[in-house]
Amino acid sequence: MASDLVIVYHRQPYEEVEENGKIVFRENRSPNGIVPTLKGFFGRVNHGAWVAWKLAEDPADPGFERRVEIDDAHGRYTVSRLPLTEHQVREFYHVSSKEAFWPILHSFKERYNYDPVDWENFQDVNRRFAEAAAEEAAEGALVWVHDYNLWLVPGYLRRIRPDVRIAFTHHTPFPAADMFNVLPWRKQIVESLLACDDVSFHIPRYAANFVSVARSLFDVDATQRVQVPERLFTEGTALTERTVHERLTCDGHVTQVSVCPLGVATSFIEDRARRPETEARVKAIWDDLRGSKLIVSVGRTDYTKGGAQQLQSFERVLEANPELRGKVRLMHVSVSANRNMSAYEDIQTEIEQIAGRINGRFGTLEWQPVALISRAIPFDELVSYYRAADVAWITPLADGMNLVCKEFVAARVDGDGVLVLSEFAGAAVELGDALIVNPFSNRAMDRTIRQALEMDGPERRHRMERLRRAVAENDLSQWGPGRLEVTPGPKRAA
Ligand code: UDP
Repeated sequence: MASDLVIVYHRQPYEEVEENGKIVFRENRSPNGIVPTLKGFFGRVNHGAWVAWKLAEDPADPGFERRVEIDDAHGRYTVSRLPLTEHQVREFYHVSSKEAFWPILHSFKERYNYDPVDWENFQDVNRRFAEAAAEEAAEGALVWVHDYNLWLVPGYLRRIRPDVRIAFTHHTPFPAADMFNVLPWRKQIVESLLACDDVSFHIPRYAANFVSVARSLFDVDATQRVQVPERLFTEGTALTERTVHERLTCDGHVTQVSVCPLGVATSFIEDRARRPETEARVKAIWDDLRGSKLIVSVGRTDYTKGGAQQLQSFERVLEANPELRGKVRLMHVSVSANRNMSAYEDIQTEIEQIAGRINGRFGTLEWQPVALISRAIPFDELVSYYRAADVAWITPLADGMNLVCKEFVAARVDGDGVLVLSEFAGAAVELGDALIVNPFSNRAMDRTIRQALEMDGPERRHRMERLRRAVAENDLSQWGPGRLEVTPGPKRAA
């Protein structure tokens, strides 16, 4: 059945598990995260489709059904599974996307690795995604493509299906022209994005950067700049932008440039935070702390997350302030990506070394300053740590949005707790009531974490109240495919 909404996202929208020798599709357990949110949009249309890849030894004879029909709480939808070999996936996802695009998107020019990129393969995989989406889309359907590893899909799709509406959402930062144009494939990528009806970003700065990149490469006309709304404006922080262009025209085709900051499911998190099991876990955490203050830091092991720099700051603070020893603990959750990539292995080793050194230098039998956790913590447990913490210390060097800081705020149903947030996290433009810190300044990092630990109750509660309002105002339910509407098309026969 043709679909009014086609979501193109590299991962499948469920977990495929074997039960009694049969493959069953199970809902992803966490209702947070992008997959369940996207599936929620299927409830708004007559029929939806999702295009993702699935490993196959021989794509010509994959040994699984290309298309499956799902009927679940989100509605009825087709999942079109694009058979790709392990080699194709590694080249398009782990190599081209992670070694070449990821560093540039996050402004780490020195980590950019051009040599291993197989551009032919990247184009080929993107073209197949576009063809699969074209097969599913009804006349005039909305095809919503996600993230930089599918950058070329809109261009291919537009050629096959001029009738569809195409939205593209970036989940990462988008850099300025000086950085983006390091990519030799820049023209092809931006040409593809300009084939969209709507290209969206988390914050105004990334949208502004995209416009500057498009202008550097093509003769585009941009509409007048408009004022950034107040909820996306924090005076003076690094990512703050004051005005943005909302539309670009290139060769007569208009592309909306939208700003759609991803939020969190506030009421879901609040519900979790209020559960008796959470209360019990919070109490147990406090008992274990025996009067020490708790700082939590949660992120993936990635050089963009600034884990090593944060641990170094903690070390300097303990060195300079002996009175803090025995009085404060840092729970540093740095979840390994397990990608077999040397850049990630190196950062993991560095984090382990610094954490070990801190514990060796300052720890005692009764008190270990750093608890380093490299495994993912289940979300419900994470909420207990958010609730129990005195401070959330979130200091990425670059981060498209950062949801952890918003989850921390949503979990603080007690109205207390301090958020220290890097000004290079997209969320900083919304959360100006956090203690905003520049992670590239050692002095600022050290001073701010001390300030957070010393902040008095009234100031903590005042800031948290305003933070909670900002997070609730931009709840996940507000989010969508830019300015395009998800609408059911005309009723069709099955
Ligand atoms: N997360 C989790 N367990 C962990 C660490 C992280 O469930 O041990 C979740 C966290 O709750 C958040 C997501 O992983 O929803 C991380 O999202 P964020 O936007 O902060 O960072 P990303 O990894 O997408 O760059």
